Amino acid sequence: MDFAMWAYPWDVLDEGVERVSDRLLDLGVTELNLATNYHSVQAFLPHNPERKTFFARASSYFQPGDEYGRLSPVPNETMSGEDWVARIDERVADAPLTLNSWTVGCHNSRLGMRHPDVTLTTPFGDSLVFGLCPSHPDVREYLLALVRDLTDRFTFDRIELETFDYFHGSGFGWHHDKYHTELGALGEFLFGLCFCDYCREHARLAGVDAERARERCRETITEIAEGRLPADVDVAGWFESNPEVRAYADARTDTLESLFAALADAANGAELGYYTGFFGVENAWMHGADLRALADPLDYYTVIAYVSTRGEAVDRLHTAAALAPDASIHAGLLPGHPAVHDEATVCDLVAGAADAGADRVSFYNYGLLPTRNLDWIETAIKRVTG
Ligand SMILES: [Zn+2]
Repeated sequence: MDFAMWAYPWDVLDEGVERVSDRLLDLGVTELNLATNYHSVQAFLPHNPERKTFFARASSYFQPGDEYGRLSPVPNETMSGEDWVARIDERVADAPLTLNSWTVGCHNSRLGMRHPDVTLTTPFGDSLVFGLCPSHPDVREYLLALVRDLTDRFTFDRIELETFDYFHGSGFGWHHDKYHTELGALGEFLFGLCFCDYCREHARLAGVDAERARERCRETITEIAEGRLPADVDVAGWFESNPEVRAYADARTDTLESLFAALADAANGAELGYYTGFFGVENAWMHGADLRALADPLDYYTVIAYVSTRGEAVDRLHTAAALAPDASIHAGLLPGHPAVHDEATVCDLVAGAADAGADRVSFYNYGLLPTRNLDWIETAIKRVTG
């Protein structure tokens, strides 16, 4: 079993690549999942020697090449023309540490604000600036160019994809969200279900009545907002009685299958992984991802299990294995607040992931975890590796 750590480039560079590398190897961690292209973030950094917080708008931590179309990553302003990924890539080459790209795709408020015509479009026709729509050809071109750029210029063993799909919800609260009406799981999903020209056309080609589906979405969101339908309405039950909306959502899976096949080519020999399970692995279809079908172009899934008990983590891994029986399953664990508050639980979670057959565990995340929690990781790894 292998162990990896997610990390932001500023934490690695502030402390020094060699020092971070030594520290990770001491913990038993041999892979670094480095953020390369990312959504906006404000992070509290308990053990960073240079700063206690860092704010970044949606940006890349490398200088993009010139092979992009209309959409191109926006390099982080604070780099001042430098290339953080290149600096880390160069120095990690001397260490026995594997470097992977942690790559955010469609969740990008900056590109969404610059190009509102390529964002998710609500059933009411509003643009959701935090999410790019992967049905749009310009977004597809951007995602492919991004992966190609990363693999052409840097030496990543793995390219890990986050939100290369139909991201929905309220965008992780990156701005001052104002929801004084509870939409619930169903309402949030329907509000983020994209009805842009491309999504509607794909659905029509699949034989789905897109206009009927859109009308049902509008009616249901309004009913929930006005309290005529409870916000906690049973999602599965609702879809059973609204098959046209389920068919509309399912039509998106073909788009992602075709995109991921092209991404596998663009990865140019690097292994390709996809993060799933932020809102439950069983709900991957809500993001347009058919885990069984995507297992073919992908090399593995990282199941996000930021949970507090071994049982919950094992359940998520088993659910993923049931949905994609031939896929390699990796686990993503959060050994810190708000999920975990003691060493024994970290040990339980890692042992549970090992017993459930996970090929690899990634821990979230180097700069965000206090030193004490990093020590817990070391104990947990030593327990399972003997
Ligand atoms: Zn769309």
